[in-house]
Amino acid sequence: MPELPEVEGVVRELSPVSIGRTISDVNVSDVIRKSKELGKEAIVKGKTLEDFIEELATMTIVDITRRSKYIYFHLEKDGLPHLLVSHLGMTGAWFVVDTLEAITEQKFKNHIHVVFNMADGGLLVYSDIRRFGELRLLQKEEDYLPLMKMAPEPFESIAVDHFLAMAALPKYARKPIKEVIMDGHVISGCGNIYATEALFRMKIHPGRATERISEKRKRELFQEIVDVLQESIDAGGSSISDYRNINGEAGTMQTRLKMYGKKVCGTCGKDTKSMKIAGRTSVYCPKCQR
Ligand SMILES: [Zn+2]
Repeated sequence: MPELPEVEGVVRELSPVSIGRTISDVNVSDVIRKSKELGKEAIVKGKTLEDFIEELATMTIVDITRRSKYIYFHLEKDGLPHLLVSHLGMTGAWFVVDTLEAITEQKFKNHIHVVFNMADGGLLVYSDIRRFGELRLLQKEEDYLPLMKMAPEPFESIAVDHFLAMAALPKYARKPIKEVIMDGHVISGCGNIYATEALFRMKIHPGRATERISEKRKRELFQEIVDVLQESIDAGGSSISDYRNINGEAGTMQTRLKMYGKKVCGTCGKDTKSMKIAGRTSVYCPKCQR
């Protein structure tokens, strides 16, 4: 599953080849059409397909940014701003190609769900094998409430105080620290991989109650999360091509992980343990992490 650094990688790959281009027409897959007919909302959310397609036609991509694990396509039509919000879910992937034949990997080719035909003849393609991804066309961010409830970007200076304030609330204070740091209302974009790594680096047991960690240590933990996210972005996160090869765990960061997915602790050599926290497998070292 792509986490913040991988999404950042996608934004950086997409931006130079997409910004400034105008959408002429949009095609959606039969799977999406069928789902809409059944009253479900596979991938295209919050709008009828007719509206989605008609509104996007002639929109120009003026910018692409990341917010938490969402990609924001900033669009413009007749001088008015619009926002296409993309969440990659488990297996979403974007391609910028001249023809569909240029997408060579069959698994992605078989699951192409939305094709944006560009006025210059190229294609912006969304593929999603498991279809947990989302595309939501809005006028502005405020039009979709969950976007407004996300914690600040972890790299913003206010993010640490937001984290400390949230962690002190009764609803979070008694929960395991790992569950709290992975909650998008508390910290934006800290998924399982980076939560696992940051806790290991801080020698904090993932199941420790949040209120049993001092404010000083919580500040340090927050900084460790920021550092590990930044390190992963710098390590390449995932380029679009890497991403489609290995499903979001691309880049060289994979080789730098010290606890996520490990059987043996790299520090002390003891076998790692794992426990379920908020439904997610949490690997830790029983000796190094307390
Ligand atoms: Zn250890």
